[in-house]
Formats: sequence, C-alpha cells, structure tokens
Amino acid sequence: MRTWIKDPLAIFVEGAERGLVVEGTRIAEWVARGETPERIDATFDASRHAVLPGLVNTHHHFYQTLTRAHPAAINKPLFAWLVALYPIWARLKPNDLRLAARLALTELMLSGCTTAADHHYLYPEGLENAVDIEVEEARALGMRLTVSRGSMNLSAKDGGLPPDSVVQNEETILADSERVLNLFHDPRRGAQIRVALAPCSPFTISKDLMRESARLAERYDCRLHTHLGETEDEERFCLKMYGLRPVDLLEETGWMSSRVWLAHGIHFSTDEIARLGRAKVGICHCAASNMVLASGICRTCELEAAGVALGLGVDGSASNDSSNMMEALRHALMVGRLRYGADKVTHRDVLRWATEGSARCLGRSDIGRIAAGYEADLAMFKLDEPRFSGAHDSLAALILCGAHRADRVMIAGEWRVVDGAPVGLDLDRLIAEHRRAAQHFA
Ligand SMILES: [Zn+2]
Repeated sequence: MRTWIKDPLAIFVEGAERGLVVEGTRIAEWVARGETPERIDATFDASRHAVLPGLVNTHHHFYQTLTRAHPAAINKPLFAWLVALYPIWARLKPNDLRLAARLALTELMLSGCTTAADHHYLYPEGLENAVDIEVEEARALGMRLTVSRGSMNLSAKDGGLPPDSVVQNEETILADSERVLNLFHDPRRGAQIRVALAPCSPFTISKDLMRESARLAERYDCRLHTHLGETEDEERFCLKMYGLRPVDLLEETGWMSSRVWLAHGIHFSTDEIARLGRAKVGICHCAASNMVLASGICRTCELEAAGVALGLGVDGSASNDSSNMMEALRHALMVGRLRYGADKVTHRDVLRWATEGSARCLGRSDIGRIAAGYEADLAMFKLDEPRFSGAHDSLAALILCGAHRADRVMIAGEWRVVDGAPVGLDLDRLIAEHRRAAQHFA
C-alpha cells in the first residue's frame, strides 16, 4: 500500500513541496515540486494541513493527570510540592494508573505526539505491574512508548524525600527491571515499545541503585533516565548527602554516557555543560514545569552547541498541568527568547528539538524526521481556527499562534487521529471515567 500525502500547505522538510509517499509503516520518499510519484494506491489531499514529523515527548509522569491543579500543591516550589503530593499519590491503584495512562497518551496524541516516554517511579503496594499497564495502554492506542521503569529506594528515614509507603528496596527494583526488560524491551528499528531504567532523582535513590541500574542498562542495551539539575535544592542535597555536585554524582556512578538522557538540566556550570556534551548525554527541556515550579531556565542553546541531544517534554501533569506537546514547543520558544534574545530561538529550533532532538534523547534514529526509511509518524494541523486567521508563514504560525490540536495523526503508517478525534476511542467516556478516578485523590 503506497499513500501519497499530497500538496501539503506546509511541511517541516526542505524540498518536499508536493509531499511524501508512505509505504506500509515507513516513509518511502519525498515528492519535490513538479513531480508525481509512481505506483500510488491512495492519495490524501493535505492542501489544508501543515505537516510535521510526529512529535516526541521525552518526559512525563502519566499518573499525575489525576492530580492536576491540586489545592495541596499549587503555588509551591519542587520539594514542598513533592512532600505535599507523595501521600496523595500513595493512593494510586492499578485501575487509576490505567485510566491516567490512557488519558495522558490520548491527550498527547491529540496534540500531535506519536512517541512518548513515561517515567513511572511510584510503587505503592498493589501497583507492582505499573509498567505492564502502561505497555497495554500504549499498544491499544497504537502509540510508541519508551516506558521508563522508575524507582525510589531512599525514603525519609534514610535521609531521602519520599515517605516509606511509595519506595521499594533495591533487590525488588532490580528484579522487576529485568522482568520488564525481558518482557517488553524491543531494540529493533520501528519498535513500538522500549524500556528504559529510571531511578527517580538524587534525593530519592541510593548511589548503589544508580550504579546497578547503569550496569543493567549496559547488559540489556537500554536507555537510562533520571531527573537532574532541576533545582538549587537538589544541588544542596547532593552536596550535603554525598559531598558532590549532581553532575559529579553522575560521573561517579557510571552515568556520563550517551545511553543517558536527563529531565530538566537547568543548574549546570559552563564546565559541566561541556562535560555533558562530550559524553553525548541527552537533556529533556520541560519549559512549562520549570516555569510553574519556578525551577529556572534550561541553557538550551549552550547545551545543544556542546553536543548534547536536546529534546522537549511536557513533564508530569501535576506540574505542567497539561500534556500538550505543541504547548511545550511554544513554551520552549518563549522562555528561550527571554533568555537568549528574539533571533536566537526560532520556531524551527523548537520543532527540531521536539522531533529529531527528542528522538536522539530516546536513542532512536528511525523516528523524528520526514525522510525515506524513517517510520511514517506524522502530525498534521489545519490552520482554520480564529487564532490562525491572517497568518502568513504556516510553520511559524503553528508555534506563534499556538496550535494545540492536530487534525490528523499517523503512527507507523496508520491514522490514529482523524478530524481531531482519536480513532476507536470514546473520548467523552474516557474523560468521565478518569474524572471519577481523580476524586480518590482530592
Ligand atoms: Zn519529572
């Protein structure tokens, strides 16, 4: 089956004026101005659509959709926000996580996201199969997912931040990490599901767990993920607990590697940025969360120039509080301009970060671009709402006028969003069920 996505209004690739051809799950070719592709079975008229590679979200906590705009946590910085939320999150049950994952994945997909990474680190009793639940939900929706088997083993009694009720011991964590790697991790090109190992943050895990997670990732050839450089509180914690700055902690535990991508990456010195760049570590910039919690501004331009793989993420829905990937691009552009100036961060920069850059963070060279041989993951936006009326540059308009809902989304060659609605899913019912589940967290 060869489908011609014909005559796009705009497309995020130079030289593909007449669109592209999708064959099976992949992109077969671009079509340049004046050309007509051969052996076409179907044609999709994209003359009202701006076409992007499917967006790649590199940091989220799906379960947090159940505690958005929570009165216990609003208007607080990270540590106080976490301490307020941990006991509320400890109530999480398997069916709550299932609904949260379904809602977050759907919300992301409707915003043009085709690949998500979720960092699940919360394991109260009864939620041992959290990874399995997320994989089932991603498969049902057809989304690509890097599910990060998160972990916390340093509770308040050992000098960490979380209460005892949400942590596990190292042995349990490593055994379950191996179980889910064996069950779900698919390293092949075009994979739908990959597993990453993701100790939560310096103030919730032991050094030993970081070291052992890195060893396991090496053995299974999977990615490693954690929160790092998010706040000055974290820096103070590391200095007090270990006598090390966060980046030195990475170095000491075997994490200065191209296998690693970090969420936030705000509080780095110029020397640390150079070290991270040399090691080819990835950084996921979560602009909305960083602004909501007033954590600081990621040095995106210096990090990218140093050689870091720079991607974007929405972060958890208790600190964003939305899971809209197009909003994440707009926020990254706005806060980037505030830091660097109006000509330094452009709509093309944030589009590159959210596609190719994010794909690199996840260790993937098969998604994030519209090019022959890449997976056919596409996000298509109509510019027919009032907010776009009068716009001249269609790609710039997506970011500057604030596009937030895709009209069409294709993943692995299949339409998953049509006319702005998820295919095969009753959205009203999902929202009603999710809202009901959220009442347990009031
Ligand atoms: Zn996070």
